[in-house]
Amino acid sequence: KIVSRFAPSPTGFLHIGGARTALFSWLIARSREGEFRLRIEDTDRERSTDEATQAIIDSMNWLGLDHDGEIVHQSERAARHNEVIDQMIASGHAYFCQCTREDVDAMRERAMAEGRKPKYDGTCRERGLTSGAVRLKAPQEGATAFRDMVKGPIVVENAEMDDMILRRSDGTPTYNLAVVVDDHDMDVTTVLRGDDHVNNTPRQILIYQAMGWDVPEFGHVPMILGPDKKKLSKRHGALSVMEYEKMGYLPEAVCNYLARLGWSHGDQELFTMDEMKALFNPDNLGSSPSVFDLTKFEWVNGQYMQKADPDRLAGMLCDFLAREVGKEEAAKVDRATFARIAPLLQPRAKSVAHMLEQARPFIVDAAFLHYDEAAVKKFLTDETRPLLEAIAQRMEALPEFTETSLEAMHKAFIEERGIKFKDIAQPIRVAIMGTTQSPGLFETMAVLGREQTMARLERALG
Ligand code: GLU
Repeated sequence: KIVSRFAPSPTGFLHIGGARTALFSWLIARSREGEFRLRIEDTDRERSTDEATQAIIDSMNWLGLDHDGEIVHQSERAARHNEVIDQMIASGHAYFCQCTREDVDAMRERAMAEGRKPKYDGTCRERGLTSGAVRLKAPQEGATAFRDMVKGPIVVENAEMDDMILRRSDGTPTYNLAVVVDDHDMDVTTVLRGDDHVNNTPRQILIYQAMGWDVPEFGHVPMILGPDKKKLSKRHGALSVMEYEKMGYLPEAVCNYLARLGWSHGDQELFTMDEMKALFNPDNLGSSPSVFDLTKFEWVNGQYMQKADPDRLAGMLCDFLAREVGKEEAAKVDRATFARIAPLLQPRAKSVAHMLEQARPFIVDAAFLHYDEAAVKKFLTDETRPLLEAIAQRMEALPEFTETSLEAMHKAFIEERGIKFKDIAQPIRVAIMGTTQSPGLFETMAVLGREQTMARLERALG
């Protein structure tokens, strides 16, 4: 059974790069009925914060990347890490070392002067010390090889590798040791991570081998670059996942776009989560860095906005409004109102935040509607005002106030007057919405309802 995992260090918020790694790992498990585990690598107590841990968990929840089992906190496992180190000492795969930093620096310099690769020279290997830092007794011959799921075969000569430190002289286990012990104990079979870790992998494999443990399969995904082909900057979209949430992106759109950054299935762009689960295969992960394209990301999000269930969007609009004006104020607009507005705005909404902007003229009372002055000047003229007054009268007399009845009434009106619809369309729009942009006029009026539509006409004409 496949067990994959995501192992973020809570030293900052979850950025889209990390989210993509998490998504790929999650897909590996979910596409093959495996398990997906979450481990918080919080051993760096100085730089790790509870806030960042919480933000990572919130982001994963929001994206829908559910994990199996309990969350493992690496910092709580130091005793187990030390137990393994002690076993390695007992089995002769590790040894104590008392070389000082100066000693090691001197060794390195000597090696460089002699044209050798600078590394620890094994001085303490045979000294039989019983205290100090602990180093791995790394094999000096042969090579360590693995087949990277993304990069293909990777081989490192063992002679190139140091007797790396497993436990510092202050008693704390090192990062590589902790990762291996945790992955082993969590039954991880598949390690997918950023390619900044690719050099750690052969070192970690040496630890697996020293312990006689099964070595998992590894994959290292390349970085996400900005359009300038440099490390993705904030300006180009290197934001935290929760910032995209705040901007009103839909989580499934974020997952879809992130999946396509480095993974492909033919030239298909849009995938539901279920499709991704069905189609994902790590063999299709690209080995060259992907370029983050904010415009395309916005497009993908727009596609999901169009297809989203209006009632769900209504709920999100309520939440967004509450964030902005507080719960009490926001409660004045009920969800059902938003659910009626949403379908009108969906065809062109870029995000939930954008939709809320577009929804504003619908939800304010006529008395507070903002009128665009230039539009008023242009469209509410001596010529159009009498037309609008006549329309207002007919509106009042309509037996029912629906899209169909409104359309029929307007049609009859322009025929009688021998005018075109465009002669009244923008004037009405400006009168009832305050601007020249709105969804279809009759559906807009129907959603506003008779009372609001008339109140707005009156205000504009008054
Ligand atoms: N904690 C590491 C990081 O956030 C990941 C280590 C791993 O995935 O093995 O970069």
